[in-house]
Amino acid sequence: MFNIVIFGGPGSGKGTQSEKLIERYGLTHISTGEVLRNEIANGTELGKIADSYISKGNLIPDDLMVNILAAEVDRLAKTSKGFIFDGFPRTIAQADELAKMLDKRGEKVNAVVGLEVPDSVLTERLIQRGKSSGRADDNAETIGKRLEVYHNTTSPLRDYYIARGEYKGIHGLGSIDEIFDRIVTSLPVCG
Ligand code: ATP
Ligand code: MG
Repeated sequence: MFNIVIFGGPGSGKGTQSEKLIERYGLTHISTGEVLRNEIANGTELGKIADSYISKGNLIPDDLMVNILAAEVDRLAKTSKGFIFDGFPRTIAQADELAKMLDKRGEKVNAVVGLEVPDSVLTERLIQRGKSSGRADDNAETIGKRLEVYHNTTSPLRDYYIARGEYKGIHGLGSIDEIFDRIVTSLPVCG
């Protein structure tokens, strides 16, 4: 299996680049944001809990999030030749759990693609997206909170994965195809 974590601030292009990676390499996409938004759209109990965090720009608690991710991995692993983890991990605790989860299967994270985009551009993109996304978290106030949470809680994962030799920093400005080319070039087996 070849497992990729796609990492970056809110609106850095994780979802967009994941779609292209799936198309190119036939990997299985797990977007935690999408899983949660589906639960919200279906009005499930989990969706109600998720909405109370997401709409305020906060993270879902680690224990709940790890259970959700584990269920997705179990559901999809049989038919998968590798995963793209999009939006997970977002905390050091989640990264440790992901490593354990993969280790049990004799797998690991093979590469972490970090989309590096300045806050001013992230804010601009999310405001634009908010005009059509219908997402409860794409509004000015919540975007500010999401960036704060990203810098305080999620961005330390960059050093975590650098220390493990897995981090590939990608300049995240330019066209979608330019950024995708940079990603492909950075990947060990695929470049
Ligand atoms: P992008 O635009 O780059 O695809 P994003 O930050 O806009 O990314 P999602 O990854 O879709 O959006 O996440 C949306 C929200 O879902 C987060 O702000 C958070 O509240 C919740 N969420 C998603 N993944 C996690 C996670 N691993 N841990 C905790 N909360 C999460
Ligand atoms: Mg997304």
